[in-house]
Amino acid sequence: MSDCIFCKIANGEIPSDFLYEDENVVAFKDLNPQAPVHVLVVPKAHHDNIIDGVPADTLASMAAAAKAAAEQTGVDKTGFRSIMNTGADAGQTVMHLHMHVLGGVKLGEGLLPKEA
Ligand code: AMP
Ligand code: ZN
Repeated sequence: MSDCIFCKIANGEIPSDFLYEDENVVAFKDLNPQAPVHVLVVPKAHHDNIIDGVPADTLASMAAAAKAAAEQTGVDKTGFRSIMNTGADAGQTVMHLHMHVLGGVKLGEGLLPKEA
């Protein structure tokens, strides 16, 4: 997709430092981190989100990228959370599939904010 920011980052049109790259995905730091460690795992092919029907090899690469990013940032030892926001109710703002890898702080046991 020509006007998609994550397509441009993933295909190198916008230069970025990748923590991980393979034939299917890249991983890079979030522009507005919401935790001490906040990495985004982004497929090279455009899918709006998980509802699109994502190939199994891409999903496997996303898991490998999350593991690699966690190891590089040290949160493989302390724990981290992986989140894929899908659609309006989840607050998805960038319509290109991505997984957040969040850690470096106690995230607690609840999945939702208290007011949700
Ligand atoms: P979501 O709300 O799940 O769609 O998350 C989108 C994420 O992309 C947010 O955490 C943004 O901070 C992040 N983001 C948006 N543009 C960029 C960018 N150019 N580089 C890195 N992260 C970005
Ligand atoms: Zn895209």
